[in-house]
Amino acid sequence: MNILFVSSEEAPFAKTGGLGDVGAALPRQLHALGHAVRVFLPMYSRVQAPGRVFQEVVPEMTFTLGPHTVRASIYSSPLPDSGMPIYFVRCPSLYDRPGIYGNAPDEHLRFAVLCWASLKTCQYLQFAPDIAHVNDWPTAILPLMLRSVFAWDKLFARTRTVLTIHNLGHQGTFPASVLPETGLEAARDLLHQDDLHAGVLGFLKTGIMHANAITTVSPTYAREIQTPASGVGLDALLRSRSEVLFGILNGIDETEWSSETDKHLPHRYSADDLSGKARCKTDLLAALRLKGQADMPLIGLVSRLVWQKGIDLCMTVLPGLLRRRAFRLVVLGNGEPRYTTFFARLAAAFPAQVSYQAGFDETRAHWIEAGCDMFLMPSRYEPCGLNQMYSLRYGTPPIVHATGGLADTVQQYDHRTGTGTGFRFEHFDGGGLTWAIERALSVQAGSREQWIRLQRNGMRVPFGWKHRIGDYLRLYRQLAPGAA
Ligand code: ADP
Repeated sequence: MNILFVSSEEAPFAKTGGLGDVGAALPRQLHALGHAVRVFLPMYSRVQAPGRVFQEVVPEMTFTLGPHTVRASIYSSPLPDSGMPIYFVRCPSLYDRPGIYGNAPDEHLRFAVLCWASLKTCQYLQFAPDIAHVNDWPTAILPLMLRSVFAWDKLFARTRTVLTIHNLGHQGTFPASVLPETGLEAARDLLHQDDLHAGVLGFLKTGIMHANAITTVSPTYAREIQTPASGVGLDALLRSRSEVLFGILNGIDETEWSSETDKHLPHRYSADDLSGKARCKTDLLAALRLKGQADMPLIGLVSRLVWQKGIDLCMTVLPGLLRRRAFRLVVLGNGEPRYTTFFARLAAAFPAQVSYQAGFDETRAHWIEAGCDMFLMPSRYEPCGLNQMYSLRYGTPPIVHATGGLADTVQQYDHRTGTGTGFRFEHFDGGGLTWAIERALSVQAGSREQWIRLQRNGMRVPFGWKHRIGDYLRLYRQLAPGAA
């Protein structure tokens, strides 16, 4: 099939979270299976790292969006460990900035240009997509572009669109006055009329209205977002599209995340021989300068430190638990000052037990997954979550709030039957989180055989993309039967 894939993040070029991982892993799998995939990403300043080589694919093209004359060109560079080229939209005035996202008044324009440039490049290369797959609000207006301003071009006559919602919490809502700058002025009648009257334009909402199919990243989240409690104002619209709304669990990229081959780790290990994991822990504790007996548990947390991730619960329960129970904690994450300040203070109050590192550190993230005994993910909501799957793969049983993808991927450990892969709490409150951490610590302090069994249960769950890709291909074929 011919597949156009447009995203605001692709690891390792540009990533703030799970979208970056999925944005690279899904096209990588499709390419490996022999499909013709064209992946588009803005050429942010961080993309142009030393050692990367770029080739010009499309010389400067010019198009007009409202008052703006946009000049963009397309460069390509291969995705590491794959022959697949990534197409970068070069437009320095919009993308040459330190962050991937921002609050600048032209944020809508940055991502409208990504969509426009992708479609213009398809025209230039005469690439006729069977499927145009877009991701989250930044690229969600592309389906409407195909339906309106690009509808004249026979190249796109058979193109069907898929919108994947990685996080409903970010909707890309702008003043309606930006409409001309998206190039969609002519499609005004196809936009959400009540919103326009209220003076707003929602990128994600537009995508939900116009994509041929909508997917989200776990079956439970697909159900949750159709309820008022978790629909963030879009539940009614999502319910109206429930026949084309599917939950497909994300996979993990095993070229990047496997304890047996991980290039970031000082020692590698497998489910059959976990000795390398113990050595990872020893080295990690030394690097973090944490104290205590070797068998004192180490709990890890790697996350964006934001409201969604349930950090408030950590603030409620961790200080008391650290006083009462013997365990250590390592935290890696950037985010809101109230949370970063909390962890910095916690580390200062418990210097032998707690380590906190701010910033984004890929190697340290891998090491924490491998070197810890347990992994903490108390998310308030979680569309899919990747870290709990990484931790399962690394023999680090997760402690999670049973929501969204966490509920779909972590099974409660039952010591009587020896089944299950981690520790989940149902009620999002301090009591729930305390219960789950205490339970994990008790099981770990109990029989060593039991703990190893729990680790192996998780390590053997097939989470790789190769087990997921079939769900996407079935959907693509359903939408574009002529291409199959
Ligand atoms: P989300 O997409 O909501 O941030 P996910 O669990 O789906 O959550 O994905 C998070 C990804 O970002 C994981 O690959 C995780 O390791 C990575 N990550 C988050 N914060 C950091 C950090 N400070 N340093 C390194 N990696 C991080």
